[in-house]
Amino acid sequence: MRMKLWTTATLVLFAAFVSGCGQAGTTPTVSKSTPTTATPASKAEPNDGWWCTEHGVPEGICAQCNSKVAADLKKKGDWCKEHDRPESQCFICHPELEAKFAAQYQAKYGKKAPKPAE
Ligand SMILES: [Zn+2]
Ligand SMILES: [Zn+2]
Repeated sequence: MRMKLWTTATLVLFAAFVSGCGQAGTTPTVSKSTPTTATPASKAEPNDGWWCTEHGVPEGICAQCNSKVAADLKKKGDWCKEHDRPESQCFICHPELEAKFAAQYQAKYGKKAPKPAE
């Protein structure tokens, strides 16, 4: 009688230890690695550096971020002195340009462009 009780208790303890140990060994590693790798890629804004979120134009032609682009466009006479940016990127003088660039964003990412900061 005593022996049997002892064995049962040992088995229960052993089972609890094994299942508890198994959970500790597998669950955190899975839940840890999945969100850290998947979350930024799937939930964040598409951000491969192509788009200048601040100015609402592709980064490669953003004269307000890139002084080389600015100098180039100034040389070509494409410059709005009043707003210190290229005429072809001045949404203040040409509000329709914002939609034009936003359409490029939408064509590339399949979603609406974020509103520029200005
Ligand atoms: Zn910019
Ligand atoms: Zn302007």
